[in-house]
Amino acid sequence: MGTYKNKACFVVNLLNRKNNEGFYKLQEVFNINEELFLIGGRGSQVRDWYKNHQYCGVCGEHNIIDEREMMLKCPNCGHLNYTRIAPAIIVAIKREDKVLMAYHSYYKTNDYSLIAGFVEAGETLEEAVRREVKEEVGLNIKNIKYFGSQSWPFPNSLMVGFTAEYESGEIKVDNFEILDAKWFSRDEIKRRSNISISSWLIDDFLNNKN
Ligand SMILES: [Zn+2]
Repeated sequence: MGTYKNKACFVVNLLNRKNNEGFYKLQEVFNINEELFLIGGRGSQVRDWYKNHQYCGVCGEHNIIDEREMMLKCPNCGHLNYTRIAPAIIVAIKREDKVLMAYHSYYKTNDYSLIAGFVEAGETLEEAVRREVKEEVGLNIKNIKYFGSQSWPFPNSLMVGFTAEYESGEIKVDNFEILDAKWFSRDEIKRRSNISISSWLIDDFLNNKN
């Protein structure tokens, strides 16, 4: 899965774990050691992919692991399965000195957060940003700019961050997925953890006042 202090790292399945002693949730590992969090996140995603792709989806034959690439291959029909990653966008939309955040019905955190959503087949990342913003809050945006990306192993996302500016429209939420959305000034924002690209985007907004 990588190297840590010059030692090779592996992912294994434990069949007989008796208790949770010595085991940590991935989110907790971030606060202990960020480098281990990245290796662990990779390990958990590869392990899930391997476990969930044991059989060929085309002909049902037992897949075999490729020697050189991270790939599972069907020995019967040749169908290939690469590791499964779900790209998702997240965007900080600015309007003068404020940023838009929405209250999602399905987030357990009970807090406002940036607009985010999965990229659909056939879309560019920028198209996904425009569509999600339009769907979730009914606004048109401009100046979409790439910010950065983060592997997010909960369970297998690749988060791609953007900044954008308000262009037109009034906030309109669906009251199902999104219960509310509003513009936040810098002094209205509570800083949370720095684990996610969401918090890096918020930090960028707080630190760049132009
Ligand atoms: Zn097959």
